[in-house]
Amino acid sequence: MEQQRTELSALGEFTLIKHLTQYFLPKNEGTIRDAGDDAAVMQPMEGKQLVMTTDMLVEGVHFDLMYTPLKHLGYKSVVVNLSDICAMNATPTQFTVGLAVSNKYSVEALEELYSGILAACDAYGVDMVGGDTTTIPTGCVISITAIGYANKEDIALRSTVKEGDLLVVSGDLGGAYMGLQVLEREKEVFKSAPTAQPSLENYDYILARQLKPEARLDIVQLLAKLEVKPTAMIDISDGLSSEILHLAEESECTFAIYEDKLPIAPETRDAAKEHNIDPTTCALNGGEDYELLFTVSQNDFEKIKGNPNLSIIGHATEKAGENLLMTIGGGSVKLSAQGWKTL
Ligand SMILES: [Mg+2]
Repeated sequence: MEQQRTELSALGEFTLIKHLTQYFLPKNEGTIRDAGDDAAVMQPMEGKQLVMTTDMLVEGVHFDLMYTPLKHLGYKSVVVNLSDICAMNATPTQFTVGLAVSNKYSVEALEELYSGILAACDAYGVDMVGGDTTTIPTGCVISITAIGYANKEDIALRSTVKEGDLLVVSGDLGGAYMGLQVLEREKEVFKSAPTAQPSLENYDYILARQLKPEARLDIVQLLAKLEVKPTAMIDISDGLSSEILHLAEESECTFAIYEDKLPIAPETRDAAKEHNIDPTTCALNGGEDYELLFTVSQNDFEKIKGNPNLSIIGHATEKAGENLLMTIGGGSVKLSAQGWKTL
């Protein structure tokens, strides 16, 4: 079926933005005026502190449109920002979108992108309150700025780990990285034989981890329900090792983590084996899982013990030595940030 293609130039910027945002309806009480004026108007939440973050996604650096559907890209570009708000133990409420695209993008392509942004608004109860759209000579850049709120005493920094605290991670690790490996493999197959059908069956879980990550707002809510206040927190965008080193550096402490405690999904293990990658390496260095990594006081052990969403993977020690991984074989290796750096 021939797909319709409307050039961006067919609509003026004003008409284009109106067209793309027509289905966005504000859900938050604090959103007073979300579009149609020079700036958004919001009512700050009483008694709370405001947290704010920006994340930029650049075509060819952070995403590859050969295997990233635009709807997923829209969703993910919002989620990575919400994840940073959640990593402060705060609740996201609003965001703005800055979008720069070349004229290779059609109006229909941007509709897809915005349908993903809208899906994220619905999934997380956040409002898009404005933005800007412009054209550039080549590629696509999406810059989102999100805000959220938290009680002053609930905000979790990176610098406040205490000696003896337990180190906890939500969900499971390494899946997004293995999803990316499968997509990259299929891309190479496609390049050499464009008529070949991609073989993506049996990879649903890890592909979703890569293409449609989620911000763990549910974990922020779970911790509030359990009455557990993390002593420090960070989200896992660059890989577990790298984020542990950030916490250690900011808090001037060290960590010991245990290989046998690392949460790795069976689907991730299977794909890792197939690609001859050590699943532990995947969990330590694979990026983009967007799970939350945090520390809690040992007094909270009973409250989190056995929770299927949380894994206690280690503890904080005084800043004497190195950050260590205690291996299944009984040895120990120094953690390093081989990371998943795209910068
Ligand atoms: Mg972060």
